[in-house]
Amino acid sequence: MIRFSLSGLKPSTLFRVRGGVHPETRKFLSAGSAIEAMALPALIRVPLQQHIGAPAEPLVKQGDLVLKGQLIGRARGPVSANLHAPTSGKVIAVGHFPAPHPSGLPVPTITLRPDGEDRWGPRLPRLRPEDAAPEEIAARVAEAGIVGMGGATFPAAVKLNLRGKYPLHTLILNAAECEPYLTCDDRLLREHAEEVADGAGIMARALGVARIIVVVESNKPEAASAMRRHNLGMGYPIEVKVVPTQYPMGSEKHMVKAVTGQETPARALTAELGIVVHNAATAHAVHLAVRYGEPLISRVVTVSGRGIARPANVRALIGTPVADLIAHCGGLSGEPEKLLLGGPMMGQPIANLRVPIVKGTNGVLALSPSETHRSAAMPCIRCGSCVQACPCGLTPFELNARIQADDLEGAAEVGLLDCVSCGCCSFICPSNIALVQGFNFAKGRLAEKQARKHQQEETKRLAAARSAREEALAEAKRAAMAKRKAEMAAKKAREAAEAAAQPDGEVVK
Ligand code: SF4
Ligand code: SF4
Repeated sequence: MIRFSLSGLKPSTLFRVRGGVHPETRKFLSAGSAIEAMALPALIRVPLQQHIGAPAEPLVKQGDLVLKGQLIGRARGPVSANLHAPTSGKVIAVGHFPAPHPSGLPVPTITLRPDGEDRWGPRLPRLRPEDAAPEEIAARVAEAGIVGMGGATFPAAVKLNLRGKYPLHTLILNAAECEPYLTCDDRLLREHAEEVADGAGIMARALGVARIIVVVESNKPEAASAMRRHNLGMGYPIEVKVVPTQYPMGSEKHMVKAVTGQETPARALTAELGIVVHNAATAHAVHLAVRYGEPLISRVVTVSGRGIARPANVRALIGTPVADLIAHCGGLSGEPEKLLLGGPMMGQPIANLRVPIVKGTNGVLALSPSETHRSAAMPCIRCGSCVQACPCGLTPFELNARIQADDLEGAAEVGLLDCVSCGCCSFICPSNIALVQGFNFAKGRLAEKQARKHQQEETKRLAAARSAREEALAEAKRAAMAKRKAEMAAKKAREAAEAAAQPDGEVVK
């Protein structure tokens, strides 16, 4: 256990976590920028899949007029999320558009042309969370289409409904924001701490827990102070824990270990320890949805990097093209080496500036060559740095060797599926080996392979079931025929016996 002190703030009692790295944070580029509003974009593109789970089902068609906040995509199944019109306007297409993803492949998308009036439709009815049942709160969060806004995009209501399944006691609000450059959660806490605290209290009521801990990294003293000033959410006391600035402190399981000392087993949920983790921006969205009936139609995004003329934090409508966010921040200040959605450690590279921001987009980064400084990969020198940096206790160089040998099952045996894709190993590797990129690719291939295997097994099972059914049918036919034959033979025998029993010359009428 360590006592961590931050000048001017009460020290937090913490537990050591494994691994981690200390990349340059470069938060100074945007941390001083208060959240700015943006002008309405000329076009808004809302992908139907912005969350973990099934894509939403479109409820509008080309030519429809919609109002701000109107439901335009309905969640399909228990793990999915509703989508709402970010502003009023006309639906000009329900088709495919390149995804905000490295593949850039077209995905089902609703395209909306704003009418400039930004006119609200009927909002969801307001709830008084102090009187609402936990199920009502979770249902409202689902109606509002809220997902994990730290980037995980898991539907928030599913997590709020875990209370019946696990004996929960603590809500951790993740405001660590450990990715370099990103400052959107920092600004949200500094400027809207009271609303974040209220959202946390509402979530605590839905979860049935009495303890709320807000976790902030040591490089955000103003955010920590703001939360300490607003340390009650719906009457629930809020503890603020300041953790060291160390990547990936914001990873759920590592954060739980740091603040509670409890270790979450590989591939288990923190809920099994009685703890649920939500992002600070998610709490803010819950506050708006419950108190004001506002669905999730906008979010705060950090636009930063040396490739951006004026780094800033902006509140942008979901579906705003990346190009519009960059233009709002003065445009590009040269040819960027890398364009990313999210942070530099786990963010997704994009090639097309027309792609939209989605509910999980916390950053748009344009990095100059001096910020990426990757050189050509060299052979592994077995220095072990990646092993020391891995927060999951894996041996990345061994994983990489197995993947290079096309031994995916072997890679799975040494923990490929326990890798959280944090990128610490790639960051630290002196040979510049793109380890995490290889692991992500291998995970995708393994998932495909397993899906194919599952499909083959399913086909085999169905074929076996069909031949069993056919065999049973044939057996039933054979049995019916044998029965008929036996009945006919018995009948014949009966008739013969009756004939034999008649006196000679008597005629039976
Ligand atoms: S850090 Fe790079 S060079 Fe060192 S052991 Fe790991 S993979 Fe090899
Ligand atoms: S990317 Fe995976 S293997 Fe590499 S350090 Fe992170 S968890 Fe470990």
